[in-house]
Amino acid sequence: MAERNTLELPSALSHFYRLWAASDARNVAVFLDYDGTLTPIVERPEMALLAPNMKDAVRLVASRATVAVISGRDLQDVRNLVGLEEICYAGSHGFDIYRPGGERIELEDGKRYLADLDAAQRKLEERFAGIEGSQVERKKYALAVHYRRVLPAVAESVRRIFDEVASSFPRLRTTGGKKVYELRPDVDWHKGKAVAYLLKVLGLDHAGVMPLYIGDDLTDEDAFVELKNHGVGIVVRDEARPTAARFSLIDIDEVRRFLENLAVIL
Ligand SMILES: [Mg+2]
Repeated sequence: MAERNTLELPSALSHFYRLWAASDARNVAVFLDYDGTLTPIVERPEMALLAPNMKDAVRLVASRATVAVISGRDLQDVRNLVGLEEICYAGSHGFDIYRPGGERIELEDGKRYLADLDAAQRKLEERFAGIEGSQVERKKYALAVHYRRVLPAVAESVRRIFDEVASSFPRLRTTGGKKVYELRPDVDWHKGKAVAYLLKVLGLDHAGVMPLYIGDDLTDEDAFVELKNHGVGIVVRDEARPTAARFSLIDIDEVRRFLENLAVIL
């Protein structure tokens, strides 16, 4: 599915607008990842705050198009961090969705896994209590073990302990990202499905709207794949890896410039 390397992609800053000009779409729907896309990756997840100029850029786009932030974070957590009431949010990779003026949509599927998550949380906290620099984070529909601050020599055992715990919870699935291992309900749901679902409930799944998705991490690839035939995936690249995105941006500063430019043409 992933065909190209992140480093080979054309820049969204110089190439997206030509594609837009040539398309029949009259509007866009903008989907944004949070960590590593709107904010720099930081050592502690609670310190990933949105810069005022980035918030302004998102607000500006939101005044002209539908904007949704899709994050692995809990819905309330990401809503608090972004702090804009006029946009949509999908927390827990889309298990939990908020749209302005609409009801909150929580996927029934996710709720059936809460007991497993509770039990796995106790186990992980017990096993990682003695490992300095590790951080077990409970989100409503996922468990994350952060190891960015763990000594390199210990990183191997972090993986081993995580796998041991994970193996005793067959209803949960292991995923991961940058310096984080995650356990999530083993259901067929990911950011790509969340994008498709949001487009549908918002009435935006038609040719007049071009969906855009900007993200930096492996979980965003599902969204790039979803938009491969109708839409545009833009990867914020910090390393060489295969990707299904069509364009790239180098860092969050370029994400902000892209959003500012986008608002001008809408
Ligand atoms: Mg990210």
